[in-house]
Amino acid sequence: MPWKTLDDIDFAGKRALVRVDINVPVEDGVVTDTTRIERIIPTVDDIQAKGGKVILMAHFGRPKGKVVPEMSLEVIAPVVADVLGLPVTWVNSDYADAVAAMEGDEVLLLENLRFNPGEEKNDEGFAKRLASLGDIYVNDAFSAAHRAHASTEAIARLLPACAGRLMAEELGALEKALGTPERPVVAVVGGAKVSTKLDLLGNLVTKVDALVIGGGMANTFLAAQGINVGKSLCEHDLAETARDIAQKAADAGCEILLPRDVVVAREFKAGAPSEVLKTEECPEDAMILDAGPDSVAHIIQVFERSKTLVWNGPLGAFEIEPFDAATNAAAAKAAALSKDGRLISVAGGGDTVAALNKAGAADDFSYISTAGGAFLEWMEGKTLPGVAALG
Ligand code: ADP
Ligand code: MG
Repeated sequence: MPWKTLDDIDFAGKRALVRVDINVPVEDGVVTDTTRIERIIPTVDDIQAKGGKVILMAHFGRPKGKVVPEMSLEVIAPVVADVLGLPVTWVNSDYADAVAAMEGDEVLLLENLRFNPGEEKNDEGFAKRLASLGDIYVNDAFSAAHRAHASTEAIARLLPACAGRLMAEELGALEKALGTPERPVVAVVGGAKVSTKLDLLGNLVTKVDALVIGGGMANTFLAAQGINVGKSLCEHDLAETARDIAQKAADAGCEILLPRDVVVAREFKAGAPSEVLKTEECPEDAMILDAGPDSVAHIIQVFERSKTLVWNGPLGAFEIEPFDAATNAAAAKAAALSKDGRLISVAGGGDTVAALNKAGAADDFSYISTAGGAFLEWMEGKTLPGVAALG
């Protein structure tokens, strides 16, 4: 691994500045989901166990460089204290004094970094002020690693730096899935549009052995082959791009799987009458809303002969039944194979995580990334500035 972890650093008597993602959902002043806070526990506990003091740095919402009282981390501090089971002091001024006054296992939480315009500008001066508060920099916020900000990038060059437990776990899982994976590797890419996932498809066809294309974006690939997709969601203007991606895949020896059969309906609503047809038989006035059972059987066969799976994007319009069927069935198979130790499965993406949860499959996947944009940029093969800065 090119980055250091908590194990490589001596924290005894040191102050660790720890960048975390505790951007939790809040409704009417109440935190409704503490998952993100729970996930920082191992890092905080480890640093303290090694004799270090913990100063948490985080963002909350999008205040755009200005003080926005509703986006203060003050309301989050007691929740962090509860979840960590530690005294947490929130500070929004006289930071150096607050650091000097830290006692015992007290944790300090700095005010929303994005109140300062220097944060999102990756400003060296702001990074220096942050760095002056500690001895060691720890980044445990993979989900913010695709942004070069003062607390994710500039600061990492000013202090001895390492990845926290959560960051290291995420990077390890991603490395196993696409960096140095066990082959064959299959990728599933679905969702609405090709246009949002061009870089992702372009990168994957050079790295994986088989690529399952599903969801609305499969329609664009089908139409590019001259198949009539009726009223389906389809980006006809990307036909050429779709053919280029298919060619790039052929050159790289990556097999592309498109739906063999499809579920079509005239309306996109729950319980709308639907039928399974061969892909070439989509009526002029109908929409393709899911992959059919033959397609699913084919996908499952490929899963069975694969060792690694990366998945982004549902195979159909999963929010509405019965158009969740292909996603559910493929997810259940991937989960079962993973549980048996036969497949390493990594998935990410907002709707993907929702779909896998809905399918009841998420728990058995090897790793589910909740990092959103950072996960997608990693799947696109991009260097994440917050990760590069740790190297
Ligand atoms: P993620 O958030 O995991 O990256 P996307 O946002 O790219 O995934 O795609 C999810 C969306 O794609 C869902 O809202 C789903 O309804 C839509 N979708 C999938 N298949 C189809 C289809 N055949 N027609 C229309 N929309 C589809
Ligand atoms: Mg989405």
